[in-house]
Amino acid sequence: MAEFGQTFTDQMAVSRFTHEQWSEVAVQPLGPFSLHPATHVLHYSSTCFEGLKAYRWADGSIHLFRHQDNIQRLRNSAQALCLPVPSAELLESAILAAVQAVTDDIPALPGALYIRPTLIGTESHIGAAGRGSKEALLYVITSPVGDYFAGGVRPLKLLIDDENMRSTPKFGQVKTGGNYAASLGSVIRARAEHGADQVLFCPGGQVQETGAANFILIKGNDLITKKLDGSILPGITRNSILQLAQDLGLVVHEIDYTVAELLSWAPDSEAFLSGTAAVLSPVGTLVYQGQPHQVGDGGVGNRSMQLRDALTGIQHGLSPDLHGWTTAL
Ligand SMILES: *Cc1c(COP(=O)(O)O)cnc(C)c1O
Repeated sequence: MAEFGQTFTDQMAVSRFTHEQWSEVAVQPLGPFSLHPATHVLHYSSTCFEGLKAYRWADGSIHLFRHQDNIQRLRNSAQALCLPVPSAELLESAILAAVQAVTDDIPALPGALYIRPTLIGTESHIGAAGRGSKEALLYVITSPVGDYFAGGVRPLKLLIDDENMRSTPKFGQVKTGGNYAASLGSVIRARAEHGADQVLFCPGGQVQETGAANFILIKGNDLITKKLDGSILPGITRNSILQLAQDLGLVVHEIDYTVAELLSWAPDSEAFLSGTAAVLSPVGTLVYQGQPHQVGDGGVGNRSMQLRDALTGIQHGLSPDLHGWTTAL
C-alpha cells in the first residue's frame, strides 16, 4: 500500500450549494474540479474538512466509526467559517454514497477506508473578503489505507514550542486548513533543527496539542489531557480514548497544565498522540529549550497499547461495541 494520502479510490460524492440550496448528492469519477481564479476559498481560506474511517470486518460487513460526530464537527467548522452549513442528513448521505460506491476497494483489517469530506467556499468574488461565500462545494473522497504501524511502532520525538500558536484561542476547534498553514513554519523548523517529528504547541507555557493530533499523558492510574476550551481540536479519537480509559479504571483529568508540570511528570509517565489516521502514536521524547526529556523509558507504554487495542478492538468488530460507536453500512 502506498504512502498515506496519495492513493485514492476512483469515485467521489459531490453536492453543490447554489441559489440557497444544496444539490442532490451525485457520485462521479474522481477528477479535477474547475475553479474560477477568484474563487473564495483560494483567497480567503473558506475551507474545512473531516477524516474518518470505514472498516471491513472479518465477516465481510462494513462499518463506520462515530461518523455522526464527524458530521457534527464539520457542521460546526462550516458555521465558524461562515460557509453554508450542510444538514446532517446531506452529509451522511454524501459519506454513505462515497463509501458505497467503492466497497470493493476497502482493504481487509487492519487496513481501512479513510474518508475525507471537504467543504469549500466557491463564490467567485474577491470583494467578499469580509463575508462568507454564498456558494459552496461539498465533496467526499476516499483512500484505502494500510496498517499505520506495519513497520513497527517508533516512539515520536516532539519539540515543545512555547512561543508560537497553531491557531487562535477560539479557532483551534475548527478543522480548517488555515490552522495547518499557521503551524507549518514551526513544524518545519522543529524537523530541521531538532530532528523532531512534530511540535507540541504550548503557547504561554500551556500545553495544547500538536499540529494534527491531540496529546495525552498517562501517569500511574491518571490520564491527563488538555480540556476542550476552543483552542484545541475536539478529537473523536481523544474522546473515545478518554471513555475507554474510564472503562479500564483510569482516572481522567481534562485540565489546563503547564510545560513545567509536563516535564516533571514525564520521567514516570507514558504519552501519545491521538487521531483518526494513526489512532494512537507513542511519544518517547520531548525536546524543550534544546534539551531532550525522555517520557517513561522512551519506549512504547503498556497502558497506551492497552488503550489502542481496546479502541481498535471495537473499530474492527473484535470486541463488544458497548458505546454504540459503530454503524453498519
Ligand atoms: C483532526 C485533528 C485531530 C484528531 O481528531 P480525530 O477526530 O481524533 O481524528 C486532532 N488535532 C487536530 C489539529 C486535528 O486537525
